[in-house]
This record gives sequence, C-alpha cells and structure tokens, in this order.
Amino acid sequence: MRYADVHCHLSFPEFDADRDEAIARFRAAGGGLLIDPGTDPVTSRRSVELAGRYDFIYANVGLHPGEVRAPYGPELLDELAGLARADKVVGIGEIGLDYYWPGYDRDLQIGAFREMLRLAVSLDLPVVIHCRDAWPDMLRVLSEERSSTLRGAMHCFSGDLDIARQCIGLGMKISVPGTITYKRSNLPEIVASMPLEALLSETDAPYLSPVPMRGKRNEPANVTHTVRAIADARQEPLETVANSLVGNACRLFGIPLPHAAGR
Ligand SMILES: [Zn+2]
Repeated sequence: MRYADVHCHLSFPEFDADRDEAIARFRAAGGGLLIDPGTDPVTSRRSVELAGRYDFIYANVGLHPGEVRAPYGPELLDELAGLARADKVVGIGEIGLDYYWPGYDRDLQIGAFREMLRLAVSLDLPVVIHCRDAWPDMLRVLSEERSSTLRGAMHCFSGDLDIARQCIGLGMKISVPGTITYKRSNLPEIVASMPLEALLSETDAPYLSPVPMRGKRNEPANVTHTVRAIADARQEPLETVANSLVGNACRLFGIPLPHAAGR
C-alpha cells in the first residue's frame, strides 16, 4: 500500500531543521509520491531543486494569490514560465483566488490567475488551485478559461457538495486535506458522494494538521490519517482507497505509476 501527498510545502522554512527526516518519515509511513508546490519564484525554484534530489518528489511552479502584488509584470511571469519547463515540474500551482485576508486586490488576483491558467494550457500541464472565500469568481473564471486541456486539482477543497460537482464538471479533481478529520467538516459527506477517481489526498503541510496531530506542525507522513478518513467516509478498504489515490495523482500529473507504487 502506498500513499500520495499531492500538496506539501516541504520547501518552506518550517522544514529547514528536519526536511530530510520528515521525508524519511513519509517513506517509512508508506509514502509513495509527494508533490511540492511553489508559491512564488523563490519557493518554486526550491521545489524544483528538492524534486531533483528525490525520485518520488515532484514540483509545481506557481504564484499564490497572496503573493500577487502590484506591480507584477512580464519579468515575473517569464521567470515562472522558465521554471515551469524544468525537469520534474508536473503542474502549475499553487495559483488561484484568496479574498480572505484584508487588502487584497480582486482584479489583480484574477488577472494573474488567468495568466497562470493560460501558461498551464500552453505547456499542457495540470493546475493546482487555491480558493478561499472566492467561489463565485473562481467558477466564473474557470468557465471562461475552460479548454479541452485545462485540468487540475482544487487544492485543500473548502466548498460544498454543489461547488465540488461544478469543479469536477470544469475538469478539476477534489484534493482532500487533513481538515476532513475535524469535527464539523463537510468533507466526509463530499468524499462519500464522489466517484473515487475524482479525489486526491494532500497534507498542505506545514499547515492544517489532521486529528490526532492537530496543533502541531503538519508533515507529509500525516497524509495517512487523511487517507484513512477518506476510506472511512466511503466505507471502503483503506488499501483500495490509498492505492487509487496514488493512481489518480499519477494520471493527473503524468507521473509513471510503477515509480510511485515503489515497484
Ligand atoms: Zn499550499
């Protein structure tokens, strides 16, 4: 049995003291595939470097909506487009819309999000999308930018069942974080209502530790708790669900399955 963590910020400073140990714990727990997303050019470059050091780690290159600041120009987009062509970059992310924090600029975020969606389509790569408090604009922009090759993951999904179905209709998969283990989460109901092929598993470490690790720094080995919660909600065997989630990730991101499955 293998586990996939499709969204883990191992490149963040929270892992500077024990990055290799956290990766070793992920492997020891059955980790088969890990994807490290960038949030700006600096972290995207670090993700590419980390992916170069481990055969089961892959990178995403992106621009998080919280990092979109005026003026951002063609230089920044060119730098990201260049990084996106590096070895083992399997997606464009994280990108998206975030209207939670004060002081954001909606138009600026939407403009950058569109640029990144178009970069992904031009490179034929999937996207990894962050969406917080911005669902109407998210669904509108995704419909407007829709194309036969636009596909990806709604990372750390926080919408309701109806939004999940709309996202799937727009070519996206629902990426489930550790919040599925929280008492008032609607994720158990959502994952039970979806085909297994529509789901992915992630930690979003160092954030959002699942129960029973809540309150501590999250790390990729904890994806096992999330996958168990998905299996419980669906009333399906853990092994079936874990292996299927690895397969879903490999298909979406174009990663050879035997590689992630540990042969
Ligand atoms: Zn993230």
